[in-house]
Amino acid sequence: MEHTGKVGFVTGGSRGIGKEIAVQLAKHGADVAIADVLDSETQATAAELRDIGVKSTGYTCDVSSFDDVENVGKQVIEEYGRLDFLINNAGIVRDKLLLRMTPDDWDQVLSVNLTGVYNVVKVFSPYLLKQKQGKIVNISSVIGLIGNPGQANYAASKAGVIGLTRSLAKEFAPRGVTVNAVAPGFIETAMTESLKDDVREQMMNLIPLKKLGTVGDVANVVMFLLSDKADYVTGQVINCDGGMVMA
Ligand code: NDP
Repeated sequence: MEHTGKVGFVTGGSRGIGKEIAVQLAKHGADVAIADVLDSETQATAAELRDIGVKSTGYTCDVSSFDDVENVGKQVIEEYGRLDFLINNAGIVRDKLLLRMTPDDWDQVLSVNLTGVYNVVKVFSPYLLKQKQGKIVNISSVIGLIGNPGQANYAASKAGVIGLTRSLAKEFAPRGVTVNAVAPGFIETAMTESLKDDVREQMMNLIPLKKLGTVGDVANVVMFLLSDKADYVTGQVINCDGGMVMA
């Protein structure tokens, strides 16, 4: 299998898009370490990955805490001995119009969605750079490209992820490490299931393909970026959104 002998680390990997990425990596033969704040779900997903036939460990880790990430980083390298793929997927929303958005709503979203990516890359990238090969994929959002009322914190964090991705792509290219972002549109997960019907309908009107995306749709794009077929692709943002944003 394509990724046998390789190791991936997926944040927010216990459910939703992150879980599907972890499952697809495992199905391609990679060992997968997942990190998530949800302890029991993290352990359950790691067990599912082991059932596929690869090595997998679930780490309880808050990506917004540098100490947590540093601690998990040491354990992953000790247990797996190498790292090939880094997938920064953990993300949260705290939606409110700016006039109602508290400093805490702002800080929480920026801390997880943007500082979390910095923390993980800061801790793990030295291993990729030393190996002179590796692939990093950061999960952004089309909201980071176009903005959205009620999501100033989320949009700023996801736009930040794009700037971070492009800077790191330039920094890491001389060492053979690629860094790309995927910007999903409206995907069926726990994050979107609570949306009211009228909001869903409004979103649907914006999607030329007239359907919501699945976690599999996003994971497929991530798998391409992690594959050898994408060796010459870096610093890119690939939208996976049914045509919602074309630029
Ligand atoms: P989910 O909420 O289903 O999954 C995200 C996972 O990340 C959850 O298990 C969550 O745990 C975990 N997580 C949250 N905070 C942290 C943290 N501090 N440290 C570690 N793990 C954490 O979300 P999705 O699968 O829908 O989203 C995955 C990514 O895709 C996110 O970055 C999101 O912004 C992005 N995205 C999603 C879209 C969609 O339509 N679903 C559209 C565009 C982008 P917990 O549940 O406890 O918070």
